[in-house]
Amino acid sequence: MLARLSKQQPQSAVQDVRHILQKRAGIDWAAIISDPFQEIPAVLVPQIEEDMAALLAGAPLSRIYGTREFYGLEFALNAHTLDPRPETELLVDLARERLKGIENPRILDLGTGSGCILISLLHHIKDAQGVGIDLSDGALKAAKQNAQNHNLAERAQFICGNWAESLDSTFDLVLSNPPYIENQIIETLEDRVKNHDPILALAGGNDGLQAYREIFLHIPRLLKTRRTALFEIGFDQRDSIMRLSEESRFILKAVHCDLGGQPRVAEIFLPKNMGRCGDK
Ligand code: GLN
Repeated sequence: MLARLSKQQPQSAVQDVRHILQKRAGIDWAAIISDPFQEIPAVLVPQIEEDMAALLAGAPLSRIYGTREFYGLEFALNAHTLDPRPETELLVDLARERLKGIENPRILDLGTGSGCILISLLHHIKDAQGVGIDLSDGALKAAKQNAQNHNLAERAQFICGNWAESLDSTFDLVLSNPPYIENQIIETLEDRVKNHDPILALAGGNDGLQAYREIFLHIPRLLKTRRTALFEIGFDQRDSIMRLSEESRFILKAVHCDLGGQPRVAEIFLPKNMGRCGDK
């Protein structure tokens, strides 16, 4: 089975199998090296075989276990949540940086999914409050569970809605990892994405920009002056986000690159005459 897996997923096969043995049988890598022929208790074998078969069928481990580590915390996933990506941690890093020195900051996370971005922020910023919005009720179930698991339910409110349509309060930070893949490209993505991530969390319309257009309409109403909005973008969307910001008369302060050197997060301000001083 390992040979078949190695052919299919050469970078991760050995690591994934190690992970399964550790998780299901408590056998870590050091134990395998010291005793490579140790027997796995028979009762554990069916579950291990099931996991291996799911891996072979192209499922990522996070989907098999229903959890994913993000920003050092564990998050429950379900069929309605995007599998959090490591590059999205940049969004959290920048958000923490921008909120330094702001007391009791209010954070809005649009398209919150599993809640991983908002919950990571609330975990690190102890006086922050947050609102997470998602169109998917199923995703919000996972987000609420995650907030509870991390003892943050009191500071996190989750609302089902179409972006920020139902909101009328102001925030110190608005951020989002919206769907931004061009619809026609989704079919060509890797199996672990196109077969396991919910389409609602991926599909950004024909040009991949539909979510930004819709969200940008709400920003002047929601963002306090001199505060920041942060958006994850696709690696090839730097020019498009510059154009969209300009059309909306926002100030695009920077497009930040991820660790792979790809443009990943757009940082936006409102011009003085546009934002609400709002202390709501
Ligand atoms: N970054 C994800 C990917 O590469 C897409 C998630 C999204 O559209 N926000 O598949």
